Amino acid sequence: MRFVPHFTDGQAYAERLGKIVCVGRNYAEHARELDNPVPSEPLLFIKPATSAVPLESPIAAPLPHAEVHYETELALLIGEELSHVTAGEAERAVVGIGLALDLTLRDVQSRLKEKGHPWEIAKAFDGACPLSSFLPLSQVPNWSALSFTLEIDGELRQQGEGADMLFPVPTLLAEMSRHFTLQPGDVVLTGTPAGVGPLVSGAELRFTLTGGLEVTTRVE
Ligand code: ZN
Repeated sequence: MRFVPHFTDGQAYAERLGKIVCVGRNYAEHARELDNPVPSEPLLFIKPATSAVPLESPIAAPLPHAEVHYETELALLIGEELSHVTAGEAERAVVGIGLALDLTLRDVQSRLKEKGHPWEIAKAFDGACPLSSFLPLSQVPNWSALSFTLEIDGELRQQGEGADMLFPVPTLLAEMSRHFTLQPGDVVLTGTPAGVGPLVSGAELRFTLTGGLEVTTRVE
């Protein structure tokens, strides 16, 4: 099934989703909780369009042999081609913001990291990127005032503040554009705050984002 990025009013933005460019360790506290050093340049990776599923849909039951961790992240919908741009140019190319889960097979990732191998099978599998609809940028305050939360079964588990990002949105996008051309219909994930953990069957997840986005889903 093709994932079509759309706004909260239901209007589709592009015919189909492009790639999903992600950053690891963009919040100091999360880097520390997994015993990772705080990076001096963004640690980038890509999830394919085939990993995207609607955030509203129940999350498929975690694989029996793997530990699936949730990572709640601010998602940016890109509206212009960006290659080697400045932070200011990059900032103006964002047309919407939403939320995503960067689902991660943590035990698989740990084994790959130990060996110095790429992470793809732990991060890029089908269904690895539940993605919400997008708020048009006009409904959004400035980047540093953004805030999002994840509650699981009524308990606050993650809270992200734009102001706490090690690489703020404009800088992050400019840096990404030095390595990969970003195109309209691509999505950028901006890293997860502290509080990641395993998904458990039957759990109810509730997400909120400044600007009025609220999504509830559950784990099958
Ligand atoms: Zn992540």
